[in-house]
Amino acid sequence: MPLYTIHIGIDDTDSLEKSCTTYLASLIVQFLLEDGAIFLDYPNLIRLNPNVPWKTRGNGAVALRVMVNDPEFTFQKILKIVDENSEIESSNPGIVLLKTTQIPSRIKMFGELALYQIVKKRQALQLINEYNGEYEEFGDGRGIIGALAAIGNTLDGDHTFEFLAYRSIKERSRDRGVDSNSVIFMSRETYPRTFNNYDFEVNRVLITPRGPDPVLFGIRGEDPKIVLKAASLIKVSQPIERYMIFRTNQGTNSHLTHKLDLSRLKPYTSGYVIGYVSQLPIIGQGGHVYFKIKNEVGEAWCAVYEPTSRLRKIASLLIVNDLIEVGGGVRRKYAYHPHIINVEYIRVIKLAAKIIYENPTCNKCGKRMVSEGKEKGYSCPYCGFKDKMARKIPKEIPRSLKLGLYLPPAHSQRHLTKPFQRFGLEKNGFTYHLIKDWFGLMNKPFNFINGSFNTSIPLLDIKNT
Ligand SMILES: [Zn+2]
Repeated sequence: MPLYTIHIGIDDTDSLEKSCTTYLASLIVQFLLEDGAIFLDYPNLIRLNPNVPWKTRGNGAVALRVMVNDPEFTFQKILKIVDENSEIESSNPGIVLLKTTQIPSRIKMFGELALYQIVKKRQALQLINEYNGEYEEFGDGRGIIGALAAIGNTLDGDHTFEFLAYRSIKERSRDRGVDSNSVIFMSRETYPRTFNNYDFEVNRVLITPRGPDPVLFGIRGEDPKIVLKAASLIKVSQPIERYMIFRTNQGTNSHLTHKLDLSRLKPYTSGYVIGYVSQLPIIGQGGHVYFKIKNEVGEAWCAVYEPTSRLRKIASLLIVNDLIEVGGGVRRKYAYHPHIINVEYIRVIKLAAKIIYENPTCNKCGKRMVSEGKEKGYSCPYCGFKDKMARKIPKEIPRSLKLGLYLPPAHSQRHLTKPFQRFGLEKNGFTYHLIKDWFGLMNKPFNFINGSFNTSIPLLDIKNT
């Protein structure tokens, strides 16, 4: 039985082209398993504040929580793996190792801040030193921030799982060959316990990244068994080199739990705010919709951008005094415009009455009268009746907008966006239990089309008790 509990944080602030952090993590996991480490949790994939300007595509970092015999040997070995396998010229990996059974609360706090704010490398280094951690930085060293933040995010509350299948280097420039019908079938078969597999509105497969990265496909869901089952239903022509199941904060809105302060919006923070619409939506260049929200502490512009077409339509139906909640990220201030909240969701809480003013009707014949001029009353063009005292009549017209939550369509949701189907499925913590086949290496090219996915074939006999 290994003696030491360690937490390893990995963040490869990689090039925009190749998302390698999770793949790199899988190589480290392979080493750890072969070395006899005991995993205390699934590898954690933590998506950090998506509204920071220097993020990578998904801004994801990984934490591994294991028991080992020799932390120093383990750390050196991991550094070697990173050095040999990450694309150092285009990325800035950071690796942090912390020896502790309990994550100190200040590191948890750091991890939480990194979900919705800008955190500094200096703060990360300070904490690592304070708790006798070790770290190694490559490139500009920014990866240290995400690496420590991942360690700090222990996913004690809501969380989801993702099955990630990887392909080998030689396959990466070729088409993945994921059969979209199998994705549709899988999606229906496992609903509502997997999510964002397929966008039925635009007929698009969502489980595959675009571009030449090592990820063959990824399936998100509520528990490890369902994502494993879902993966077995996917027909794909490229061989799977390896796969791994992560526990993650994807699909939990964990970046939006913090309340934004309208009196002093900080750029690049994420969060939510409740208030009244204080400026009728206007449609700007490119179809972007802008409106203002106001509450007891301040007022701010909100912007809903082009790709989230459904949300733009909803935003354009808002009127002054509608009570709403918006979630999103604060864009930095420029000379020519103030801070703007980039809207990720809108919740309509209460609708204001929409009033229009109509000319009065004629007392004699009932037809609509016409104005005689300002303050001069109305006259009837049909029977000639005049009424000096008549005024416009307010009329409430029905709203086409309904109360409720509005999200962008699945294909333009962020990793962290909580999809509709997850509301009500939130979890409260994690009881230690790892399923047998959470990690697998395929020793030979394996074709899903030619057979069902047999999870007993992983090379490694993984024992976690
Ligand atoms: Zn009349």
